[in-house]
Amino acid sequence: MRIVMLGPPGAGKGTYASRLTKILGIPHISTGDMVREEIKKQTDLGKRIKEYSDRGILVPDEIIIKLLAERLKKQDCKDGFILDGFPRTINQAEALEKIAKIDLVINLEVPDEIIITRLSNRLICGKCGAIYNLLTLKPKKEGICDKCGGKLYQRKDDRPEVIRERLKVYRKQTEPLIEYYTKRGLLRNVRCDDLMIPPEVMVKKIVEIIKQQKEIKSS
Ligand code: AMP
Repeated sequence: MRIVMLGPPGAGKGTYASRLTKILGIPHISTGDMVREEIKKQTDLGKRIKEYSDRGILVPDEIIIKLLAERLKKQDCKDGFILDGFPRTINQAEALEKIAKIDLVINLEVPDEIIITRLSNRLICGKCGAIYNLLTLKPKKEGICDKCGGKLYQRKDDRPEVIRERLKVYRKQTEPLIEYYTKRGLLRNVRCDDLMIPPEVMVKKIVEIIKQQKEIKSS
């Protein structure tokens, strides 16, 4: 299955995709993680894209499309993948259509109040990228990753003023994708109105939808 996770920043795309990858046995591909990796390595490209990422605005399409196209060529993507954070513009969705045929788009619907609370309490592992939340998904030991012992940090773009900018960018540039994929019959909505719903409950709902879609595909 080739799946796209759509939704505003902080909707849970990465949290759910990192669990779905284990259940489905296909890779979780986060363009945000790829961007942060380039910045960390301080490559020429990393230096160029840092200014966009720090401000919460989108990296230019041609850069991100090239990065993603390279990643999808890898052997582990041959049976499918879960995209998290791509596409984010209509132009990116059109480019993706030329690279791979998408089977399903999961659209996470989450109210702004939940997003802002969630992102301001989010922590990331600097070593393995695992996602925590001080309200809903606390690490066992403060500031330390349960999975790999790495140090947890707050993303630069998870500060309130940048969160507001990212939400604006989402509404303007990414939200039109809901209509784009609805028209193609690929979109399924998953709503989350309660900050305290555990990720496992949401993942179960998504797995059900994936199963239904697989049945439709094979019938
Ligand atoms: P994320 O972790 O998905 O919130 O992404 C973090 C940042 O990386 C975004 O605010 C953008 O600056 C950049 N980024 C990630 N994915 C994309 C994309 N598909 N198009 C443009 N910029 C992206």
